[in-house]
Amino acid sequence: MLAVNLFSGLSRAPRCLFLGAHSDDIELGCGGSLLELLALKPELEVDWVVFSSNDVREAETRAAALQLLGEKNAARVEVLRFRNSFFPQQATEIKEYFESIKNRFDPDVVFTHFRDDLHQDHRTIGELTWNTFRNHLILEYEIPKYDGGLGSPGVFMPISKQTLDRKISILMDTFASQRSKGWFTEETFRALPRLRGIECNAAEGFAEAFYCRKLSLTA
Ligand SMILES: [Zn+2]
Repeated sequence: MLAVNLFSGLSRAPRCLFLGAHSDDIELGCGGSLLELLALKPELEVDWVVFSSNDVREAETRAAALQLLGEKNAARVEVLRFRNSFFPQQATEIKEYFESIKNRFDPDVVFTHFRDDLHQDHRTIGELTWNTFRNHLILEYEIPKYDGGLGSPGVFMPISKQTLDRKISILMDTFASQRSKGWFTEETFRALPRLRGIECNAAEGFAEAFYCRKLSLTA
């Protein structure tokens, strides 16, 4: 499969915005891709926003982000306190926050939730991403969950076995508050990338996948 270089033609450090409704969403949905991108482009500049959290989960997501991003980019992590499970009812306030992100950071790529995600908080973030970033490449990541709704994303980032192992170890080591949940297991974190790896013939068998609704081509 022809691989597209995400940042080809850029003569400055690439910029990526990561948006997640809850602590661990970004890590789960695109943590492997982020590690691969940082290995290829160590100069990558990151802005990272988690919209809902509490003190315990904020500490966890900051610890995970530090491991994933390193010190310089981890300083750009914002963890907010919007009410968990009620994002549609807080859409006005969340939209105002989106405007402030747009004013401070002009990303080349936005990583966000799947716009048709069956979890209402994820869906709100996906919708407001499209509503706010209107001249940007947007990649929507997927989250395995009780609600179901996994589909067939068409954009793949192959990740090495070593990268996947590192992503899983960061998830398992840092998110202690989630370990009691039945779904929060290494098997879950390996299963979906394995399936997506099959779908893109990934060299080492693993990939993260994204929905991309608009892509402008050149040669
Ligand atoms: Zn979530």
